Amino acid sequence: MLEPATEGVLAEVARAGVAEVDAAVDAAGAALPAWRALAPGARAEVLRALADTVAEHREELAVLEARNAGKAIADARGEMGMVADTFRYYSGAPERLLGDTIPVAGGQAFTVREPLGVVGLITPWNFPLAIASWKLAPALAAGNTVVLKPAELTPLTALRFAELAIGAGLPEGVVNVVVGPGRTCGQRMVDHPAIAKIAFTGSTEVGRSIAAGAAQTIKRVTLELGGKSANVVFADADLETAAAAAPSAVFGNAGQDCCARSRILVERSAVDRFLELLEPEVKALRVGDPLDEATQMGPLISAGQLETVSSFLDDSAPVAFRGSAPEGRGFWFAPTVMAPVEPSLRVAREEVFGPIAAVIPFDDEADAVTLANDTIYGLSGSIWTRDGARALRVARAVETGVLSINSNTSVRVTTPFGGFRQSGYGRELGPHATDAYTEVKTIFYSTED
Ligand code: NDP
Repeated sequence: MLEPATEGVLAEVARAGVAEVDAAVDAAGAALPAWRALAPGARAEVLRALADTVAEHREELAVLEARNAGKAIADARGEMGMVADTFRYYSGAPERLLGDTIPVAGGQAFTVREPLGVVGLITPWNFPLAIASWKLAPALAAGNTVVLKPAELTPLTALRFAELAIGAGLPEGVVNVVVGPGRTCGQRMVDHPAIAKIAFTGSTEVGRSIAAGAAQTIKRVTLELGGKSANVVFADADLETAAAAAPSAVFGNAGQDCCARSRILVERSAVDRFLELLEPEVKALRVGDPLDEATQMGPLISAGQLETVSSFLDDSAPVAFRGSAPEGRGFWFAPTVMAPVEPSLRVAREEVFGPIAAVIPFDDEADAVTLANDTIYGLSGSIWTRDGARALRVARAVETGVLSINSNTSVRVTTPFGGFRQSGYGRELGPHATDAYTEVKTIFYSTED
């Protein structure tokens, strides 16, 4: 494992293959009967212990994540706090897996929620343990056992979590971590007949191949994929606040965020003022050593990602201004704002997954909605205006799974998160996430003599 800020070797981890995936599935299968049979209150207790242990080891996990993923330590601490919160939130779920009673003739019909069985979790490198926890917690709460394949670039927090979980009382075999490449280990999980479901976060391209592969065994699939979200700023908005908030909405995690508002749509009459306000905010961003307390943005994850992101910065790119970044070793890329950007330009259409924002002018509300929806994706977005009725009209018209008004919030433990269109299907987090890890069973009990 490399450290993206230095390109130095952080750790060496043995690379798993198909045999290790099969062994992990066997272990998860062996652990399933006891785990699903555990009393709901006892399963809740284990989830609370997982939350406590993550909270106790928050600093250790945050440093590991910051170094391995190259993210600012303050962000990594926030994410580890979210991991603990996620386990705590879903510790309420085992005792609330409610069913219905349904009136029928000749007896009583009711529904129960059964676990799916062994579920496969395939996760990316941008928010490694946080995204894993969004899947692990509801899956475990519902009585499933799990095989987790973290991204090969960033497996360290998942491996440490698995150790901590055993210490916290999670029975052996309930969570199994396999570190290996997606094309072999991930593919085997998709093909494996004993895996009931794949929960995936990553690129739309791989998501498509997972959905196709899962069709062979009719596996359940939830997909959280790419995005090209719009930050829509109307001229009547509090422009100072909108401009101050815009950098973190697109440059957070060095832009490697599926919710990144990488298109900033600004009403034409406000473009000059907005850019004037945005420039000092971007230039003030502190880009540097992830472990420095003052750092707001780290490097990109890899040399490959640096090459991909750099490809958007060709000679014809309308660069308005850039922030700064360290020079020398490490996968550094300075935050960059392009303006004005034509909606047909590549930077306005493709997911950059790096710190580049495209400022696109619009004429009126209808134009803003058309531009916001002019993408194959539909994950997130923001609307800035002081006109409440317009905020609600636009929020209903923009086709994304999550939207915030006068804010750039996307993800909360307590609210559903996921995409429209090619940003995926299924929802994570919030009160209904266990639905994606259970089957509804209808039972009829005859009362005839
Ligand atoms: P991928 O979609 O390739 O990787 C995500 C996960 O899927 C990793 O664990 C990966 O394993 C695994 N994987 C890869 N190929 C397969 C396969 N054929 N079958 C099963 N699992 C597989 O994302 P990348 O890391 O390559 O990133 C590329 C782009 O994807 C980014 O630039 C960004 O646009 C998007 N992305 C979106 C994310 C999101 O949050 N929605 C997160 C990450 C990326 P491994 O990496 O170990 O080989």
